[in-house]
Amino acid sequence: MSTQNHRYTGRFAPSPTGPLHFGSLITAVASYCDAKAQQGTWIVRIEDTDIPRIYPDSEQHILQCLDAFEFESDVKIIFQKDRLDLYEAVLAQLKQKDLIYACQCTRKILGSNHIYAGTCRGLHLPFEQHAIRVKVSNQNICFEDRLQGSHCSNLENQLGDFVLKRRDGIINYQLAVVVDDYLQGVTHVVRGADLLDNTARQIWLGSLLNYPTLQYMHLPLAMNAEGQKLSKQNLARALDLQNAPQLLQHAILALGQHPVDLDQPHKMLAQAIAQWDIKRIPQGTEMNGIYL
Ligand code: GLU
Repeated sequence: MSTQNHRYTGRFAPSPTGPLHFGSLITAVASYCDAKAQQGTWIVRIEDTDIPRIYPDSEQHILQCLDAFEFESDVKIIFQKDRLDLYEAVLAQLKQKDLIYACQCTRKILGSNHIYAGTCRGLHLPFEQHAIRVKVSNQNICFEDRLQGSHCSNLENQLGDFVLKRRDGIINYQLAVVVDDYLQGVTHVVRGADLLDNTARQIWLGSLLNYPTLQYMHLPLAMNAEGQKLSKQNLARALDLQNAPQLLQHAILALGQHPVDLDQPHKMLAQAIAQWDIKRIPQGTEMNGIYL
């Protein structure tokens, strides 16, 4: 099926840094239902550029989850680690326009200061063996999130020039995500509110490359009993593939949607799509009372 004629292309883009958990399922369900309710295309992309952080077998677990929950990607699943040449080509494009530079500052030099002062901007260091940073400017970057409302940030005052490629050669998530959203024709991003803060960086990078702007929807995060967001770092429990229909039902309810009947997952998803209403998604950046 061609993606060219669709107005809506959405995606689910997990990083294989641990097994998928209930929070990942919520993102998958919301991105899928939102795309399908608008007759859109839905794509799965595995974001595995950060090789040292890849957790053994988690790519396989992601694929097994997609199978068990009967999600189908409309195009062949891509793996970012197979696309490093594409990201390098974009870096070359940015270099030609003098929008990036090499940086020799180590974490030790930077210390706890989270705003990068642009120390290496004028040094013209060779690109090899150094981190690569993109220049930001002193301006407000604003966007209207479909759930979280209006958001503005000033990258120069809040962050400084940020890294696109690490010194160890790893392509940063910010670059890979922007390039692939563009190359895959993504129009709508639906993901957890933990990524809200990354959005301004991605919009900035997209604008430097003249990529079209995207629509964003950041979902409230599922929390554990200790009040922390479910995450791989907090060792959230892996999705139990034996219980896919029950978990799916729970995820749909957590998203505030009308209940669906327990059935085969693809039938439950079809019902959720027919009933999909983003006005019912809980407000804010955290969900209450989700202890999975
Ligand atoms: N790969 C990111 C993650 O698993 C999500 C990227 C995105 O949706 O933009 O947290």
